[in-house]
Amino acid sequence: MAEDKEKNVKNDPGLATIDKIISLCKRRGFIFPGSEIYGGFANSWDYGPVGVELKNNIKQLWWKRFVKQRDDIVGIDAALIMNPKVWEASGHVATFSDPLVECKKCHGRFRADQLDGVCPNCGGKDFGEPKQFNLMFRTFIGPAEDQANVAYFRPETAQAMFVDFKNVLQTTRKKLPFGIAQIGKAFRNEITPGNFIFRTREFEQMEIEYFIPKPARDEDWRSFFDKWVEEMYGWMEMVGIDTGKVSKLEVPEDELAHYSKRTIDFEFEFPFGVKELYGLAYRTDFDLKNHYKEAPYKEDEEGDAFWPHVIEPTWGVDRTVLAVLASAYKEEGDRIVLKLNPKVAPYKVAVFPLLKNKPELVEKARGIYNDLKKDFMTAWDDRGNVGKRYYAQDEIGTPFCITVDFDSLTDERVTVRDRDTMEQERIDIADLKSWLNKKLNK
Ligand code: ATP
Repeated sequence: MAEDKEKNVKNDPGLATIDKIISLCKRRGFIFPGSEIYGGFANSWDYGPVGVELKNNIKQLWWKRFVKQRDDIVGIDAALIMNPKVWEASGHVATFSDPLVECKKCHGRFRADQLDGVCPNCGGKDFGEPKQFNLMFRTFIGPAEDQANVAYFRPETAQAMFVDFKNVLQTTRKKLPFGIAQIGKAFRNEITPGNFIFRTREFEQMEIEYFIPKPARDEDWRSFFDKWVEEMYGWMEMVGIDTGKVSKLEVPEDELAHYSKRTIDFEFEFPFGVKELYGLAYRTDFDLKNHYKEAPYKEDEEGDAFWPHVIEPTWGVDRTVLAVLASAYKEEGDRIVLKLNPKVAPYKVAVFPLLKNKPELVEKARGIYNDLKKDFMTAWDDRGNVGKRYYAQDEIGTPFCITVDFDSLTDERVTVRDRDTMEQERIDIADLKSWLNKKLNK
C-alpha cells in the first residue's frame, strides 16, 4: 500500500525533492542537524534563525485562528511531565506501542508494520518474533532511580486538556460545545525516525479537544466532525499548504485506536511519498470517563452530570513546516524561490543599499531599515551585488526587497521588487509602510 502510494508522486523535474529541501534549509538557516559537531544525534533537528521565525509564525497563526478569534476555544500550556497516573488512565502505559522486530543477521531493529520482509540494513530475511515496544520516554523524578519514581515525557499534548477540563470549566464557565487548545512538545521513542523532520523523537503538536454534548444520534457528532474537516482544510489553505496534494484517508474500523469511533488522516504528498500530515478523531467520552470517576459536566444546576464527548483535530507543527516548505519550493530557471505565504515568511521585507561602499546610500538604507523594523520582520543585506541578494532572499521566501539607489537620495523613492512576479516598482519612502501593510495583509 505504502509503496503504491510512493509511486504516485509526480515525476516533475522542478519538484522539491527531500534532499533539495534539506540542503536549502541548511544553507539558509532554516533547519540544521541536531548536535552536528558531535556527529548529529538520533535524528534530531534544530531550527535555525529563519526556521524558528517560520515555525513561530505558523504557531501564532494557528493560535490566532483557533483560540483568539473564536469564542468557543480557550488555550492552556501544561507541564510536559505529568503524573504517571495520567498515562495509565489514558491507556498509554498499556497500549502506546509499536511492534518491533530484530533482524537475526545484523541485529537491526525495525517496526514490523513498516517492513516488507527484507531488512533495510543488510537484506536479511530472517526476523525474530515481534515484541510490543512502548514509545513513551521514561525518566525518574528525584534522585532515586526506582520504579516508584518513574515518570514519562508526554507523548501527546492531548491528555492535559482532559486533566485540566474541570479547572478550565470552573474558571471560564464555558458551555458545550467548547474546546481546549494547546501547542507544545511531545516525545515518542520512535523505532525508526526519519524523512527529515517528518518523524522525530521530539516534535511539536497543535491540538484541540473539542467537547460536545452526549450525542443522541450519530448525526449529532458527525455534524461537528464534518465542520472540523472543513476547518482543517481552511487552515491548510491559509498557511500555504498545497491542498491539491492533500487527501483524506478514512481509517478502517479494525485499525482505529482504542479510543476512536472514527478517524480521518489528512495525508500529504510529501517528496518521499504520501503520508499522514494531520489527524481528526471522534474519541467518544473515553478520555473524560477514564480521568473522572464522577461525571464532570452539568448543563445547568438542575441537570444531570455527564461525560462530554470529544472531537480531536490534531496538527503536527514540524510536519506543517515540511508541507509548507514542500508546497512553497519552486525552481524557475536557475532561481530557487520559496513562495511562502507572506504571513508565515520569516522576513516580510529586506532592505539593501545599492552599493556597500557609498556611505550616503548605506545611511539612507539604514534609516529605512531601522524604521521598518519597528513594524515588520526586516532583513538587511549589503553583501555582493543586488542580484545575489535577491537570490538569497528568494531562497528564504522574503516577499519584498527594497533597494536604495542614488536617485533615492534626491527623489525620496526606492525600488521594491516582488518575489513572485520579480516586477519592480518605485515607491515613495513615506508610503512604504502602508504599501507593505496592504500587500502583506491581502
Ligand atoms: P504516525 O502514524 O505517522 O506515527 P500518529 O497517527 O501516531 O502518526 P498522532 O498520534 O495522531 O500521530 O499524532 C498527531 C500528529 O502529530 C500527527 O498527525 C503528526 O502530524 C504529528 N506527529 C506524530 N508523531 C510524530 C513524530 N514522530 N514526528 C513528528 N510529528 C509527529
